[in-house]
Amino acid sequence: MNKLKNKVAVITGANSGIGLATAKRYLKEGAKVVLSGRRKEALDEVSKDLEGDFITVVADVSKSEDNVQLIKDATDAYGSIDILFLNAGIAPPTPTTDITEAHYNEIFDINVKGPIIAVKEALPYINNGGIILFTNSIVHQKGFDGLGIYAASKGALRAYSRVLTSEVKSRGIRVNSIAPGPIDTPIYGKMGLPQEVVEEMGKGFAAQVPLGRFGTSEEVADAALFLASDEASYINGIELEVDGGLSQI
Ligand code: NAD
Repeated sequence: MNKLKNKVAVITGANSGIGLATAKRYLKEGAKVVLSGRRKEALDEVSKDLEGDFITVVADVSKSEDNVQLIKDATDAYGSIDILFLNAGIAPPTPTTDITEAHYNEIFDINVKGPIIAVKEALPYINNGGIILFTNSIVHQKGFDGLGIYAASKGALRAYSRVLTSEVKSRGIRVNSIAPGPIDTPIYGKMGLPQEVVEEMGKGFAAQVPLGRFGTSEEVADAALFLASDEASYINGIELEVDGGLSQI
């Protein structure tokens, strides 16, 4: 129960899905958690069910100044950071024929620019031996129609994480990524698709997964706990697939 005792964790996209499940898991393991999200009402709502030492910070990760403020608020509250979990992301699909500059910019600003700016801002405050975690996706390992920009954004993040792993090695900071497969979270309802299309898409994904089902946020949170804990002390620079085997067949 005390795998993260007194560790300070900053989590983006913490008011929903994988980020929220991880915040709960980290709190249960004794961490002090900074939950960040874009909407104050959502953060206020989820806070009602949380127990432990935490604060919430409203930040839109696509805005550099919000990332600066997030790290400032986190370090004003807790001094330094042990675990930086850059998890916020969006996945609106668009076939290549329909891609617009606005679509590209929105996805890359949130999924790539945001995490990179947050890392830059946080680095002076991350304790030596700390952990930087990214929520990536298996989408950049396989081809899923309509997810070109999303896949490109996660591939970019993966490439960046390899460089970062090397750049922070002298400080003993571990950099790892989690690559979820289809996970049952609200993200599918935010894709801008009709419900029946989402359901059909979901059935299609589940049928491709060797375990035959979607994963849960809690199953991803378990991986996020493992990678942030001392049990993963010699695991560095990897992308851990939490996907029921989808990426492996
Ligand atoms: P979710 O929609 O439940 O959570 C996404 C979180 O990101 C939300 O809290 C949302 O508010 C936040 N967010 C989005 N844009 C933001 C912005 N501009 N500023 C701040 N926060 C913002 O979905 P989820 O499935 O839990 O997604 C979490 C991560 O997992 C994402 O990076 C997503 O790409 C990745 N992922 C999800 C799946 C899946 O099947 N659910 C698969 C692979 C990867």
